[in-house]
Amino acid sequence: METMTNQLSDRINNLATSATLAMAAKARELRGEGKDVIGLSLGEPDFNTPDFIKQAAIDAVNENYNSYTPVDGYAELKQAIITKFKRDNDLTYEPSQIVVSTGAKQALYNLAQVCLNPGDEVVLPCPYWVSYSDIVKLAEGVPVEVPTSIDTDFKMTPGQLRAAITPKTKMLWYSSPCNPSGSIYSKEELRALADVLKDYPEIIVVSDEIYEHINYVGDHASMAQFEDMYDRTVTVNGVAKAFAMTGWRIGYIGGPSYIARACNKIQGQVTSGANCIAQRATITALMSPVSKIQYMVDEFKERRKLILDLVQEIPGFECNEPEGAFYIFPNISYYFGKTLKGKEISNASDFAMFLLEEANVATVTGDAFGGPNCIRISYAASQEQIKEAMKRIKAAVAG
Ligand code: PMP
Ligand code: GLU
Repeated sequence: METMTNQLSDRINNLATSATLAMAAKARELRGEGKDVIGLSLGEPDFNTPDFIKQAAIDAVNENYNSYTPVDGYAELKQAIITKFKRDNDLTYEPSQIVVSTGAKQALYNLAQVCLNPGDEVVLPCPYWVSYSDIVKLAEGVPVEVPTSIDTDFKMTPGQLRAAITPKTKMLWYSSPCNPSGSIYSKEELRALADVLKDYPEIIVVSDEIYEHINYVGDHASMAQFEDMYDRTVTVNGVAKAFAMTGWRIGYIGGPSYIARACNKIQGQVTSGANCIAQRATITALMSPVSKIQYMVDEFKERRKLILDLVQEIPGFECNEPEGAFYIFPNISYYFGKTLKGKEISNASDFAMFLLEEANVATVTGDAFGGPNCIRISYAASQEQIKEAMKRIKAAVAG
């Protein structure tokens, strides 16, 4: 029997567990107990990695790519990333401005560690991706949440940005397309935010574009495309979502070379370079025409229509029409203060737990994303699963 008391650091004791991963683990556990749980909690494409990418990995194994990799990534991969940035985003980077990491998550962690001093503030438009807030806190930064609502399609307005900035503001982090709201900032909207930032030239912007290709409305705009923002914007991307490569763990940044050097330095002490085989496969993924992955985007688009139609039939779910990513983020505050099947619903966490227990559907509470009136439902699942899940939710809330 273990008898030692908790000797862990305050740092870890104060860290929240990732709500997305925790809910996915809970769903897995219940499934292990024989419960028929539909998992709509994790943001993970349900497709297999395309064969042409798998083949590149098999070739890399056979060609003996087995040694430590350069800390900031293979030169050929950095070149492929440079080509991708130019081709898709009209962004010009040098190899010294690129760092490959173990997932976009590590790229974000690096950025917080290398840019933030204790007490530095990071503006996070809500809802934000679940890990931003805790990654910032791990670097002793202070997340400054900017609440938004369905009325502005969950986007931060220039006025809100200005009001959130203080002398301690060091960074702004956002994702577009956004996880969890699916909202996409247009070029004009980004320009309006950049205009506010003109008055604060010291603020660094982290533009997380990992859902870039999962876009149902058209053009993708990047903050770094504006000449006056290029020098202080870090563009984060990765292969997890568009190429169905979540487990391969490759993400990357393009940004100012002094920041890239710093990310290289921290990575050199913490993980070394990212996995050799996954990096080789990523070269093939990024160098292929984007049309090769369009079939997945087309399928996500159909599922989006399906889930939006079905959610309308459920009382008390108020939803925007997401333009990208593969989530809906309905406001379910209608149920707060109500009792469903004998369970009191006080907040979104109660509601997500209710759905898990009474409908056998795993979702994630909006609290974890800075959206306490909402839950996140991933539609990276088959149309049958989506139909069944929505049917179950409708039945459960009907009492
Ligand atoms: N940013 C956003 C907005 C995400 O949804 C995710 C989830 N995968 C990540 C970063 C992390 O990506 P990766 O799997 O490459 O670490
Ligand atoms: N990014 C995905 C999500 O939001 C994967 C889980 C995670 O990395 O937290 O569900």
